[in-house]
Amino acid sequence: MPTLADRFERVRARIAAAAHDSGRNVENVALVAVSKTRDADEVAALHRLGQHAFGESYLQEALVKLDALADLDLEWHFIGPLQANKTRGIAERFAWVHSVDRLKVARRLSAQRPATLPPLNVCLQVNISGEASKAGAMPTEVVALATEIAALPGLRLRGLMAIPAPASDAGSARRPFRALRELADALRRSGLPVDTLSMGMSDDLEAAILEGATHVRVGTALFGPRPPRDVLPGTRTSQ
Ligand SMILES: *Cc1c(COP(=O)(O)O)cnc(C)c1O
Repeated sequence: MPTLADRFERVRARIAAAAHDSGRNVENVALVAVSKTRDADEVAALHRLGQHAFGESYLQEALVKLDALADLDLEWHFIGPLQANKTRGIAERFAWVHSVDRLKVARRLSAQRPATLPPLNVCLQVNISGEASKAGAMPTEVVALATEIAALPGLRLRGLMAIPAPASDAGSARRPFRALRELADALRRSGLPVDTLSMGMSDDLEAAILEGATHVRVGTALFGPRPPRDVLPGTRTSQ
């Protein structure tokens, strides 16, 4: 069994190799360690190995870890589905939100961001593969929506995020990431100074980096397979 240190080293080597292959500086590709379903001790262990940014998808679960690890210098990224009635804890406790997909939640996050903190860094999530079941703004509405989000005082619009449909081969894996990069280019042409492409996970981080990812969100390749959601810590199971 590989240890956490082995997996961390392997992921960092993959990121470095992909950055090298695309002629990019590895320092421009940030690793967000996706710690959903993992406990505070595992987060602390990865932090001791040198990891700074962690991604969480479920607010209640995340807040337990944020509280337990409040003494550590960690950067928390919210990457999960946003419910309008749960924005406050995110606005107050996180540094980044990658999954903003509609104006209503953007307005609430902005209004609820404490004035004592810097603006909340946000990415607009895009339904880049056009899947009916997926979260995210449609590509055609991205420029208009991003323009409105960028004007909100409590937020700093950093860029775009996507979770493409799984690709059948390495060649087609790059296509949705390229489409997201082109949408970010369109935002810059319309005057929005975005600098972030949050794309690429355990199985496709190389393709994403080749297309310009600045943040890869990696869970399984770092922590190993996730337990099924019904055995999340604090969740009752029928067993
Ligand atoms: C779970 C999750 C990830 C990490 O996925 P892995 O395949 O485990 O690397 C990345 N992004 C989002 C939005 C997620 O929900």
